[in-house]
Amino acid sequence: MDSISRLAALFEKLPGIGPRQARRFVQYLLSTSPGVRTELADLIKRLGADSRQCVKCYRWYAKNSSAGELCSICANPAREAAILFVVEKDADIENVERSGFRGMYFVLGGTIALATEEPEKFVRIRELMRRVEEDASQLLLNELILGLSATTEGDHTREILMEKLRPLSEGLNFRVSSLGRGLSTGSELEYADPDTIAQALGNRH
Ligand SMILES: [Zn+2]
Repeated sequence: MDSISRLAALFEKLPGIGPRQARRFVQYLLSTSPGVRTELADLIKRLGADSRQCVKCYRWYAKNSSAGELCSICANPAREAAILFVVEKDADIENVERSGFRGMYFVLGGTIALATEEPEKFVRIRELMRRVEEDASQLLLNELILGLSATTEGDHTREILMEKLRPLSEGLNFRVSSLGRGLSTGSELEYADPDTIAQALGNRH
């Protein structure tokens, strides 16, 4: 395969990008200055070495933005440790932050497709249980909020997590809630505006 087709095929793997958009990216890169191509290539090459995944919430952050193994949110003592917001992906956090939420986060890493036999292989269920157990046994946790997409897969994921969390929440005395239906069906946190998220947080149940 030639460079143009190979690059287009790679762009097509990015979330939400179809073949036509992938081709447009390649056309843009061909028509732009060589400096832009070099900068892009360099940044991509350095991305792994310059970034780190938080050991507590699993969110990716730039190494120079936070010292140590925790991201700036997990390392901030002013955050409310009693509320843990479970999101699907990193991009959701940026949006929830804009709504004014000041608790802690956990990045699940996606949703669970229907009829998935071992969901632990695809999303961080085990890691979430460990985190919750740790927080709750230190009496740090009052509430866990599930902020999953209002889609079939999001609902399915919520049901699985609710079931797994129930014995823990009863034994360790914290409540599990879900975002209210301020978010319309099929909507994702990543695309909801801050006011809608704030409203959905206010209507959690
Ligand atoms: Zn973190």
